[in-house]
This record gives sequence, structure tokens and C-alpha cells, in this order.
Amino acid sequence: MIRFEQVTKRYPDGTTAVEDLSFEVAEGELVTLVGPSGCGKTTTMKMVNRLIEPTSGRVLVNGEDVAATDPVRLRRSIGYVIQQVGLLPHRTVLDNTATVPRLLGGTRRQSRERAAELLDLVGLDPAVYGGRYPDQLSGGQRQRVGVARALAADPPVLLMDEPFGAVDPVVRERLQNEFLALQAELRKTVLLVTHDLEEAVRLGDRIAVYGHGRIEQLDAPAAVLGAP
Ligand code: ADP
Ligand code: ADP
Repeated sequence: MIRFEQVTKRYPDGTTAVEDLSFEVAEGELVTLVGPSGCGKTTTMKMVNRLIEPTSGRVLVNGEDVAATDPVRLRRSIGYVIQQVGLLPHRTVLDNTATVPRLLGGTRRQSRERAAELLDLVGLDPAVYGGRYPDQLSGGQRQRVGVARALAADPPVLLMDEPFGAVDPVVRERLQNEFLALQAELRKTVLLVTHDLEEAVRLGDRIAVYGHGRIEQLDAPAAVLGAP
């Protein structure tokens, strides 16, 4: 579903962020990218939705070279969740969530119904939270809205960059468990970036362990943890 073929990214200042990267994420698989800050995880992820272009090599999504795919169409088929979810501060939670359904051509009413469904899906009762503004939510609740929005277009692929990184450990564990349950149901093809090995192992079907600019190991949780 997602395939990297000998991908290298060098930034204009000469920094090589990733070098000769080749790996695949199967349909419905969740692969976590883990490693210390600056080892190339975010760069890898952003080449999937063309926020960053590779210097050489190819990235394929569903067999299509992303370099040959219209970025707008590409990003519609790829949900994106980042650490600090950017919600529109002067719109309610329901309206924030309805933005994508609206852009996709839904009527106001249809879009709000879809938004309510999505909020429900991520564990936010729309009747309680739909009318609130983003600054009236906890950090964990804001991340849930971020996940709801990323799922709005029902994309087959999800990119998640430290999605649970900005919340305290107790909330993080709850969000992780909720996300695992959701993923068991939705079976999205997911790349998830984290610097937390415990999170990587808990969430990933497979874990890509990054060293500087390359993947040093790509394996199932038990193998990464060193079990026989
Ligand atoms: P990670 O996500 O693992 O923290 P990044 O992919 O963000 O790593 O960064 C990989 C390397 O590329 C780091 O050395 C980082 O400083 C560098 N880098 C990232 N973005 C840029 C940029 N726009 N220009 C130059 N160097 C960059
Ligand atoms: P994000 O904040 O979503 O992780 P950014 O594109 O802001 O992604 O940057 C990714 C990483 O690359 C960050 O760690 C950032 O500090 C680093 N970075 C961004 N621009 C540069 C740059 N010009 N030189 C070195 N590192 C950079």
C-alpha cells in the first residue's frame, strides 16, 4: 500500500535526513517509526503526502508514484494527524469536524451529521462536546478531534506524527487503547511516528527502528523487544 524505493532526502543545506530507504507498509497494517529526534522519521512520513519531495527514489501509494499524483487528490486519500492539532479557534468542535465533509461537497446538514458520527467514533459525545470551542477542550480531547478530522474523508491511509505526544501519560495510554480499538475496526494503512519505544511496540504491527537516516530493524514487536 505504501512503498518506499531507495528513497534519499537531502535538504538544501546538505543535511541528509534519510538515505536509501526501502520498505513497505501492507494494506491494513500499522507500522510505527521509532527513534531519537532528528533521525529522519518525520521526513519519511512527509514524503508520503508530498509535504516533502525526495531527492531520489520513489514513494508509491497504492501502486501510484506520489510524484505523479495531484497533491490535492493525494492528501484527500491520506489522513494526517500531528502532535499539535490545528483546530480553527473560532469554530465549534462540530464545525471543525464538519470542514472536510463540507469540502467534499456535503450539504451543511449532511456534513454536520457526518461530523457527529466521527466525534462519536473517537469517543466524544457530540451532544456534549460538539458545541464547545477548541480552547474548552483538554489536550486529549483536542487530539481526538484531530483524529476525527483525519478520518473525515474515510482515507485508506493515515499518517500520524507523535499523535499522542502532547498529553500526559495517563491520557496517552487511554488514547492509545482507544486508537487500537478503532484501528482493529477500521484497518487503515498507518504510518505512526513516535520517539517512545513503548508506544511503538504497543501500537505497531511492525516497528521500524531508526538509526541516523536509516531503518536499522523492521520487525514485529516481539522481535524488536528481543524475544526468541
Ligand atoms: P525526526 O522526525 O526523526 O525527528 P526529521 O525527519 O525531522 O527527524 O529530521 C531529520 C534530519 O533532517 C535532522 O537532522 C533535521 O534537523 C533535518 N531537517 C529536517 N527538516 C529540515 C529542513 N527543512 N532543512 C534542513 N534540515 C532539515
Ligand atoms: P514538525 O514540526 O511537524 O515536526 P517541521 O517541518 O517543522 O516538522 O520540522 C521537522 C524537523 O526538522 C524539526 O525537528 C525541525 O526542528 C527540523 N528542521 C526544520 N527546519 C530545519 C532547518 N532549516 N534546519 C535544520 N532543522 C530543521
